[in-house]
Amino acid sequence: MHVTEPVLWRRPGEVQVGVSAARILTGLEPTEIDLLLDLAVPRSAQWLARELTVRGIPSARWEKIRSSLPAPARSTPVRRGSVLLLDSHPLTVQVGHLLAERGVRVITESVGRSGRTRDRVPSRRPALAVLTDSWVTDPVRVGPLMRHDVTHLPIVVDDAVTVGPVVVPGGGACTRCLELSRTDADPAWPAVATQLRHLPGPLATELVLAAGLAAWVVADVLRDAPTSGWRITDGAVLPVTVECHPRCGCFTPPSAADRVPVSPG
Ligand SMILES: [Zn+2]
Repeated sequence: MHVTEPVLWRRPGEVQVGVSAARILTGLEPTEIDLLLDLAVPRSAQWLARELTVRGIPSARWEKIRSSLPAPARSTPVRRGSVLLLDSHPLTVQVGHLLAERGVRVITESVGRSGRTRDRVPSRRPALAVLTDSWVTDPVRVGPLMRHDVTHLPIVVDDAVTVGPVVVPGGGACTRCLELSRTDADPAWPAVATQLRHLPGPLATELVLAAGLAAWVVADVLRDAPTSGWRITDGAVLPVTVECHPRCGCFTPPSAADRVPVSPG
């Protein structure tokens, strides 16, 4: 017995199994949740039978839970391509370790950290880039990724951790869309965000969970599978979506008024 999709605690009595196509199970006893978590690694039938007895879970009850689990993960292979780690934040590094364990080629390269490398195409074009920031995604680091059409997974650590959503340049909302939406909600947000970037990020107890989720999201992208963003806070995992902002222009082609003809010579 092996639960191949990640089991994520949501609230007492409730877990979700899977990330991109999650199945939410409710009405669970703590012992039942513990057993699901223990099945993240393959277990023998003998082990399971013994644990059901030890934990006082009737076989009929377990069969009902087992039948509610999603089908095993697709065996679609991760397509060829590498993942570029854009910084040495512990969360980024851990995501790299998890991906490498799954056979994904992981490369590290500093892009956008210095003026000389800020705007060049990564020398080895990745299938996806991962970057972690404290409080707010650094627009200076995202700029080259948008300009060179590099799909990227932004991770933000504040008083919780936000993983994604994945940004596909020209294919949906970007990190600037998110910032513009925040500014709509609070006109003082740009001033606040500018100061937050210079504060050290707090220690997030959800880092381990976030790293696992981020690796899962990256693997989904490499498999061309649909995926979404996640907010991990107080042990709960909630989906995150970002809408394209009309003033961002990352998705909508610029209007004629935005086009400036430049004559040769
Ligand atoms: Zn945008």
